[in-house]
Amino acid sequence: MKKFINRPEDVERQVVDGYVKTYPGIIAKAADDIVVRARRKTGKVALVSGGGMGHEPAHLGYVGEGMLDAAVGGAIYTSPAEDRVKAAIDAVAPGATGVLLIVKNYTGDVVNFKMAASEAAEEGVNIAYVVVDDDVAVDGSSFTVGRRGVAGTVFVHKCAGAAAEAGADLAGVERVAKKVIANVRTMGVAIEPCTVPAAGKPGFTLADDEMEMGVGIHGEPGVRRAAMEPADAMVDEILEKILGDLDYANARVAVLVNGAGGTPPYELAIVSNRVHDVLASRGITVVQSYMGSYMTSLEMRGFSISVLRLDEELEHLLAAPAHAVAWREGAAAPAKEVAAPAPASAGAVPVASARAGETRPEPSGALDPATERVARVLAAVADTLDAHKDELTELDMPIGDSDHGINMARGFDAVRAQLPELGTGDAATLLRKAAMTIISKVGGSSGPLYGTLLRKLSVAVKRAGTLSLAIFAQGLEEGLAGIEELAGGAPGDKTMIDAMVPALASLKDSLAAEVPAAEALSRAARAAADGAEATIPLVARKGRASYLGERSAGHKDPGAASFAYCLDAVAKAVAAEGTRSDAAA
Ligand code: ADP
Ligand code: MG
Repeated sequence: MKKFINRPEDVERQVVDGYVKTYPGIIAKAADDIVVRARRKTGKVALVSGGGMGHEPAHLGYVGEGMLDAAVGGAIYTSPAEDRVKAAIDAVAPGATGVLLIVKNYTGDVVNFKMAASEAAEEGVNIAYVVVDDDVAVDGSSFTVGRRGVAGTVFVHKCAGAAAEAGADLAGVERVAKKVIANVRTMGVAIEPCTVPAAGKPGFTLADDEMEMGVGIHGEPGVRRAAMEPADAMVDEILEKILGDLDYANARVAVLVNGAGGTPPYELAIVSNRVHDVLASRGITVVQSYMGSYMTSLEMRGFSISVLRLDEELEHLLAAPAHAVAWREGAAAPAKEVAAPAPASAGAVPVASARAGETRPEPSGALDPATERVARVLAAVADTLDAHKDELTELDMPIGDSDHGINMARGFDAVRAQLPELGTGDAATLLRKAAMTIISKVGGSSGPLYGTLLRKLSVAVKRAGTLSLAIFAQGLEEGLAGIEELAGGAPGDKTMIDAMVPALASLKDSLAAEVPAAEALSRAARAAADGAEATIPLVARKGRASYLGERSAGHKDPGAASFAYCLDAVAKAVAAEGTRSDAAA
């Protein structure tokens, strides 16, 4: 056994210390075996995961903003004891609105985490746990404890983490975690085993011409030993099993090609190359893909493939920003209909309301008019938010954390700055990209929520192939539903929903009465402003303000106020268009 270690008995502690010393801005030690975020965030559901060590960067590499709040590590390949899991819960439970344990399906882990959960529940902690069982190598029915939890767990951390960060309550975060678990499948293969330092010899041995198909992540043997094959054949066998286990027909998916610790990047790339070809040949759309060592088995020479079937919600949560040692953003596939990049000489999208002192790009005349209008409206929204930045931030002071105006202005400023390049595609693509920017730049609760609204608008425009007042109303309605689903809010909770609902009702009335677009939008903006005013006496049931309970009454909700301003900007931009040409909205 040759390893870069010191005494085997010091391995676990030195691994934790090494990570924490390397990334002090992201993670910190709560105990020798417990890693927490360097900057704790309270007032949200806290996520705790862990298990035996030896899977680095799992799990401490997934502690960070948008992912886990704590990771507890047992000895290599050994579940942490119940009291250590409890200590991890105790490290994050104070100030959290709930605690979700993410457990991989191994008896040791399940038992210890479950016991710790019941102890915490007895002490009054609002706690739940989910068990990940994504490994399709072992047939559920012939394996009495069910399938093992392997690399797909990282997707659970990511999506559940994003939901928690967005302010979902414990039931909401648990629902997301379970949805990922229900939709992710993984299988692995190895060509060289690994050696637990304290054991000194590998869990199985392979001859030079052998491979072990269906390995887990603990150096245990797989389900089938066979003669070595080319990488493509291994990928084909694994994908055959995965795709046969869940209905992936026409699915949009995220794919993780995971190295087991001893597989170099160039080999993973060869594997990934085949994975993408096979999925494409099956008509499966890869929306996000990842490649690297995410969940390892010490130095095992192996890889696994995980395929997560996505819906809108998971797609959105996966793309939400995260800041953890080992999380890298997947490379989103460009939408098929994206136009070729405009030549450098082509004019940029005209921006109706560039900030004072900035020169405005000249209209090119060659643009899709709908795209141009969307770009104008987005720029107008950015201007309005800039103008009301301080006021919105002040609204967030007594009942929030004084950042709403700053958050919104930062996000829409970034959208405005991108318009010259974004405006070269179609309107739906522009809206979709703006949504992604808002999600990544606004942050807080409002980032994912406004991002969802823009995404739903994009979907409505794309579906209709055009942009009209009716399509806008449709997108707003779907956006509202998306926000309610994502964040679990409802009318009367004192959130932006309270401005959106009356605005939508007003738009529908106007559509029925065939009120012209600019006037209809202006009425809707007034209804939104009235809705925002009406949040003043309400007691908040969602968002940060809800922590104040009764004390939240007497203040206007900042998100409702910002929505009213946004809609007002839309109305004014459309009205200005009407004076230029026909406002066909
Ligand atoms: P954060 O609360 O994370 O600091 P912001 O201050 O940017 O984020 O945004 C706060 C606004 O987000 C609130 O005023 C409210 O309108 C909105 N919001 C918060 N939670 C929810 C929710 N569950 N549903 C709808 N809107 C929400
Ligand atoms: Mg805030």
